[in-house]
Amino acid sequence: MRGISNQERLEVTSNRSKVIEVEDSVYNGVVKQSRKTEMRVKVELHSHTYISDGSMSPDAIVKIAKSRGLDAIAVTDHDSFRGSILASRYAKLLGIDILVLYGAEILTDIGDVLLICVEPLYGGIPRDVLGLRDVAVENNCVTIAPHPFHILMPSVKSKLYEKPELFDAIEVWNSKSIPLFNIPAIIAARRLGKPGVSGSDAHVASAVGVAPTIIYTDKLKSEDIIEAIRRGRVIPTIKGYNLKILVEDLAWSLFRRIP
Ligand SMILES: [Zn+2]
Repeated sequence: MRGISNQERLEVTSNRSKVIEVEDSVYNGVVKQSRKTEMRVKVELHSHTYISDGSMSPDAIVKIAKSRGLDAIAVTDHDSFRGSILASRYAKLLGIDILVLYGAEILTDIGDVLLICVEPLYGGIPRDVLGLRDVAVENNCVTIAPHPFHILMPSVKSKLYEKPELFDAIEVWNSKSIPLFNIPAIIAARRLGKPGVSGSDAHVASAVGVAPTIIYTDKLKSEDIIEAIRRGRVIPTIKGYNLKILVEDLAWSLFRRIP
């Protein structure tokens, strides 16, 4: 896709990640002609455990994420940081070398908003989007509009154009969605000059890491990843579910509806 390619020169290869000199825009013109030595890391920004409607346990999701070669994963259960808190705890307990980002997908008065934070938020998380944005800013979180134009999911849709200041980034590619709904998100990110990220929206094991966001960051730390998203140091992965994932995802969504 036009605009995603960038000229990179590999400088050093470390155990974890490549250190890269980025010489061109990473996406949609937000960052141009930046010359900086950064790490290039693969980050899953949208995933669910059984704390909400996913099939995986918090410990399973970190093991799977690590096995897929991800450097970091944001666990973003619906309306709760608990999945990400447990996943982070298990990763440390089990000695799994992966960064777990604290996150949640909050159903607000205008639709779903992904929240990724340096520290988990406890207590009552505001459901009004203005209040949620205030809390996000106060707590060093990024707000991302997930699947913003999906008509069957609670998405922000036209509110994205009406209130773009409420979002740090736009999920321009949601693997669980279809191109018909993702393309308007790509267009919106470009028109609004917002960073475009991707996410697998994984509810089942096979979907974890399908569409990681490539992030250019100085360090593999939550605050650096969050700052890199804000600054648009991101490249989305444009990849949907294959047949195996579609079948597993469909089977899970039918199974969990059985009373
Ligand atoms: Zn989701």
